[in-house]
Amino acid sequence: MPKRPPQAADFEVDATGMYVMPGIVDDHVHIGGPPKNPDAEYVYKLWMAHGVTTVRGVPLTSHAMSVSERDRSARNEIVAPRMFNYQTAGSGWDQGPVDRPEQARAWVQWAVKNGVDGIKLFATRPDIAKELITTGRAFGLGTMAHLGQTGVAQLNAIQAARMGLQTVTHFYGHFEALMRDYVVQPWPADMNYDDEQWRFGQVARLWDKIHPPGSPEWTAYLQEHLKLGTVFNPTMTAYAAGRDVMALRSRDWHARYSLPSLIDFYTPSLLNHGAYFHDWATEDEVAWRNFFQVWFRLLNDYKRMGGRVTVGSDAGFIYNTYGFGTIHEMELLQEAGFHPLEIIQAATMNPALSLHEPKARPLEFGVVRQGLLADLLIVGENPLANLKVLYGTGATRLNTKTGQVEQVGGVRYTIKDGIVYDARKLLADVAAMVERQKQERAKAPRR
Ligand SMILES: [Zn+2]
Repeated sequence: MPKRPPQAADFEVDATGMYVMPGIVDDHVHIGGPPKNPDAEYVYKLWMAHGVTTVRGVPLTSHAMSVSERDRSARNEIVAPRMFNYQTAGSGWDQGPVDRPEQARAWVQWAVKNGVDGIKLFATRPDIAKELITTGRAFGLGTMAHLGQTGVAQLNAIQAARMGLQTVTHFYGHFEALMRDYVVQPWPADMNYDDEQWRFGQVARLWDKIHPPGSPEWTAYLQEHLKLGTVFNPTMTAYAAGRDVMALRSRDWHARYSLPSLIDFYTPSLLNHGAYFHDWATEDEVAWRNFFQVWFRLLNDYKRMGGRVTVGSDAGFIYNTYGFGTIHEMELLQEAGFHPLEIIQAATMNPALSLHEPKARPLEFGVVRQGLLADLLIVGENPLANLKVLYGTGATRLNTKTGQVEQVGGVRYTIKDGIVYDARKLLADVAAMVERQKQERAKAPRR
């Protein structure tokens, strides 16, 4: 062997012929919990098995548990990615809901002292949003907003960005800011936001109600975001079932890696978030397919101008299983027009920058560079040629010599903080958890 490092090592990886890239940073996650996935270990191992070495929890879970899990991961006491703790205003403290700007300010000051890394906004009242963003920024907290439909008429993506919001997650707020003939989305008269088939079915109808791609208004919108430094974190995978529910419901990995309890949670229901396919029609899917085309263009145009786009999965809902969803988001960026190298940038360096900048800290991970933390993934096949090789289930390929169909790829090793994890072993642990739950269910049949 040529050049070896001088010091003795705990573990030696022979990566001859393999491909190395920075560990993936998933910019939008939650860890679920009972009843859908009782153990966080299931989620952590799925992430790590897909090379995800850092996650932004928005929120990961409750504030107290997010802090303790983040710290345990930082000490490498658990097999889990590095975590960033984003929380909604008022979470964690005992001084009531944040319903006026002074409260918002007080909560931010409390949050800074109590282990919050950033603020997640929803349909937040504009005066409160402004206080959260301004005070948060002043104290080094990151900001991300899901500009929920119940508040978007008062605060859309460009208005929030003008307040200093860092990251717009999902698509909420973009399309509403670009509407052509309306200032409020023209909902049907019997629109019921709490009925999720209405909620998710109607958002897609915005696709042809906006200033069209390439129009002066469209370009000016993106240019203003670019100037303000807004980050777009689309989480397209979380909406992919809307355009083809059958495809997402029958993913190759569900049988082996999606817990039965998680599949239950995905199954149409009036109660579970994201289980909105009550009576999902071809027309709904067509609306979503049209919507995706416009959304793709928005993201790709923003990227082409130099805007920052980041990979986030928002998994644990809507047939979007942890780890697999992160890789699927990368595939969707390719569909949007990104080159695979740009996708890897969106999955590594871009979110890493977004996590470091509010803290005014130099980059510690997200690129392969001497002096940075050793957060890497190693895969036996070239992800630039086919992103599917990053899926735990790998990519399907016909071996033309043997005539056999093979599964190739799958992350081989995930390295976090210099600690090497065998990704296949992590997946085997996950498969065993799924199998165990299936057996428990077989023993105690449910009605
Ligand atoms: Zn989410």
